[in-house]
Amino acid sequence: MGLVLNHPELFNDIGDVVRMFDPCPVTLTQDRTGRVLIHEVKKEEDRWRQRAELWEEGKLTAYEEREDPIPGGRPLIQKRIFRRAAKLCVYDLMRKATGKTLPWGSLTGVRPGKLFRDLAGQEGPEGAERILRETYDVSPAKIGLLRRIYSEQKPFLDSTDVRDVDVYIGVPFCRTRCVYCSFAAYAGVKEDLKTRYVDTLLREMEGVWQPLGDRLRVRSVYVGGGTPTALPVRELRRILQKAHALFDPMPEFTVEAGRPDTLNPEVFAMLKGEGVDRICINPQTMNPKTLQIIGREYGEGEIERAFDEARKAGFSWINMDVIAGLPGETAEDFEKTLARIRQLAPENLTVHTLAIKRASELKERLREYALAPVTEVERMLELSCETADALSMEPYYLYRQKYMTGNLENVGWGKKGSYCVYNIDTMEELTSNLAFGAGAITKRYFKKDNRIERAPNVRNLGDYFSRTDEMIDRKIKLFDPSVDIEGGRTYND
Ligand code: SF4
Repeated sequence: MGLVLNHPELFNDIGDVVRMFDPCPVTLTQDRTGRVLIHEVKKEEDRWRQRAELWEEGKLTAYEEREDPIPGGRPLIQKRIFRRAAKLCVYDLMRKATGKTLPWGSLTGVRPGKLFRDLAGQEGPEGAERILRETYDVSPAKIGLLRRIYSEQKPFLDSTDVRDVDVYIGVPFCRTRCVYCSFAAYAGVKEDLKTRYVDTLLREMEGVWQPLGDRLRVRSVYVGGGTPTALPVRELRRILQKAHALFDPMPEFTVEAGRPDTLNPEVFAMLKGEGVDRICINPQTMNPKTLQIIGREYGEGEIERAFDEARKAGFSWINMDVIAGLPGETAEDFEKTLARIRQLAPENLTVHTLAIKRASELKERLREYALAPVTEVERMLELSCETADALSMEPYYLYRQKYMTGNLENVGWGKKGSYCVYNIDTMEELTSNLAFGAGAITKRYFKKDNRIERAPNVRNLGDYFSRTDEMIDRKIKLFDPSVDIEGGRTYND
């Protein structure tokens, strides 16, 4: 579909809304023939007037008009409200034209929980529910989910301090690459390169923590990837020992053990011995046919074997990830996976909806894969709620990604007392995140402005090795001690 916009800077926002209703390619154009959406905004003294029209082969099929008062305040806030108003106008137009309703209404952002919390701060939880229903057209089921998450998260978010950081340590190696993966995850890497990576990572951690550590307080540490356990045991141990040396006391220490083809009693014994509290063993699916399709080379029963070994090693805080909507899967297949998870009874369960990400093999060869229709994936998510209920879990964090099937969501479930603080903090962005490793993104939270400033690391391994000092400097500057940690200015203002 062609988008004719008198504010071309709105292209991404409007394109996202159009794709929620119709996953067609969208282009910015001046050509008004064919299938086009025309969006115009006129700025008057105190208001924006918008008109959006949908044209098919020279015929006007639907239109929408809207006006919004221009709010006072800083340009950044005005810009945010302007973009939101434009999205709402186009959402109403597309809903009218297609007759479709969407579970998340007009919300396109990745963190609906954050919006709920902001609104609840201004209007109370009931007010937040009303605004989500009336302004954003969010379904009662999704509002109910947000309300539950809001109550579960509140004690954790109320306890944050401006000095708090969560620490992320990234290990970008995997045994094989899954078809849906878009992470920095290198498969088939030789051991000497892995050792070099760990050397560099430890240097980066030390180089950043040495000048900053005194003024920060660690809330949680998360070793993720990739698959950290794809490292030789001795190399992963070096990382965990360095984490203790720098960041102790660590109130929460997670290692993403990830795939069972990297797990055995020796690995679990080392993780336990190094004081890891929480591990993830991620089946994604327990269906052997799907495992083959998605590029995971281990067989049936491997997840149960790894889970059993982890329990025997003494782990009592285990997360499992599943993905709804994997190629070739039906709700019945998904239910079988959930039934086996119910038997294992982990403390946490993370339910993802398949996202077809740009850098993935799945996206490149999309036509070769049979994907379930949206209604089937919605059914899968309902089944996952039933499983979480059966395991006495509550939803405690939620996020959305671009290109998710049906614009649905990922939900973290947990038994009370087992919530992962790292996950809550990274989703809600009320604390800073200090991130190490290739492709890791450090974020500093500025409380006064309620905003985040980023310092990304390079993703390519060669660049990471040759530009380590620059990665260290970026983080030190971002957390520059001369900048008031309550906010107001950043190093590149
Ligand atoms: S295990 Fe995770 S990080 Fe590794 S290839 Fe699969 S999806 Fe990517």
